[in-house]
Amino acid sequence: AKTTGRDRLVLFRPELKEALLRRSTLAGALRHAVTRGELELHYQPVVELATGRIVAAEALMRWRYAGESVPPLHFVPLAEQTGLIVPMGWWALREACAQAARWFPTAVTVNVSAHQLREDDFAGRVLAILKAAKVPGEGLIIEVTESVLITDADATRATLERLRSHGVRVAVDDFGTGYSSLSYLMSLPVDVLKLDKAFVAQRQDAITGAVLKLAEVLDLVTIAEGVEDEDQAGVLARLGCPWAQGYLYSTPVPAADIDALLAADKTR
Ligand code: C2E
Ligand code: CA
Ligand code: CA
Ligand code: CA
Repeated sequence: AKTTGRDRLVLFRPELKEALLRRSTLAGALRHAVTRGELELHYQPVVELATGRIVAAEALMRWRYAGESVPPLHFVPLAEQTGLIVPMGWWALREACAQAARWFPTAVTVNVSAHQLREDDFAGRVLAILKAAKVPGEGLIIEVTESVLITDADATRATLERLRSHGVRVAVDDFGTGYSSLSYLMSLPVDVLKLDKAFVAQRQDAITGAVLKLAEVLDLVTIAEGVEDEDQAGVLARLGCPWAQGYLYSTPVPAADIDALLAADKTR
């Protein structure tokens, strides 16, 4: 993964590339990113496939570093390794919930790392953030990966159930890339299934159809990720996929752009 990360650094100016490659420099800079206000959230609309109506917006982190907007690929792995993802994650939750207060009933969906989910009183702290922002639980969806749900299952289940009892929804991110058996999935405390973009990109229509059927039986709402063209959207609609997300609808954009999109939506 490291090699891939380096290969992709071609995007940056040489001096920035140098700095990013010096892991210790980057870790030091990242440590200050939260306190110096260098992090920002962009939001990508999640739409109802049949109507195009925006039902949620996923918060995706960006780092304003040396005059560029650095994507998560270059700093989230390091943040995970160093534990910095925890304070960064709390910042993101507070920031996203402040937006949710303005966008409700459109929900914000926020990525939560394994480290953060295992913090003491995670559920209590999330509920306190919602309360401070005056957002009902229904305004927040938290995204966790399959591996998070499987590891430490009992503690995780209790945490998620507490949040769900307050209306917060739980989404399984990148569904299909992990190891969950279907029977296991049935017992998980989740509400939303995010079908990994690989299934959409590779047109694995049979698998997609099976996942959609399963989700329906389990009363889960499915979001197809990475929808880039009308063909993919058409197939997904035909297979009965309720929600979708991807460049076809919008790339991740600053909060102000979501304001404009919601204001233009006369069905709200
Ligand atoms: P993810 O949670 O699976 O987020 C979806 C990624 O797919 C985003 O990349 C998004 O920009 C990209 N994407 C959206 N539509 C399309 C499309 O149509 N085609 C393709 N090819 N890609 C699309 P991004 O923003 O670079 O984020 C990458 C990953 O970084 C995220 O994957 C997530 O795992 C992590 N991440 C981002 N923000 C946060 C955060 O606040 N906290 C944590 N813990 N992780 C985060
Ligand atoms: Ca996600
Ligand atoms: Ca995903
Ligand atoms: Ca991911």
